[in-house]
Amino acid sequence: MADLAKAKTLLEAQLAELKARLERIETDLAEPMDADSSERAVQMEDDESLEGQAAVIEARIGATQRALFRVEDGSYGTCMECGDEISAGRLEARPESVLCISCKQG
Ligand SMILES: [Zn+2]
Repeated sequence: MADLAKAKTLLEAQLAELKARLERIETDLAEPMDADSSERAVQMEDDESLEGQAAVIEARIGATQRALFRVEDGSYGTCMECGDEISAGRLEARPESVLCISCKQG
């Protein structure tokens, strides 16, 4: 049985951290482009990778929020696919996990 209080604390901390990271990236993206064209090319590449990172972080924010809902409704810690318990080690490494390791791999 998953420790729901601990999971909630972990998820809330993770959510706050992810949101802070996303905010920093959005601030970077909002910076005006350099007028110099060679600089601009570098900045555009930077922005593309930042956008990639932002997308990854947004996806994790969504997953973390869904996991928090599952804490609330009591289904947290069970696999959405097969209903088995997700191992504690896996939940510690990735508290937003909704699939057990075998469903994730399968
Ligand atoms: Zn499973």
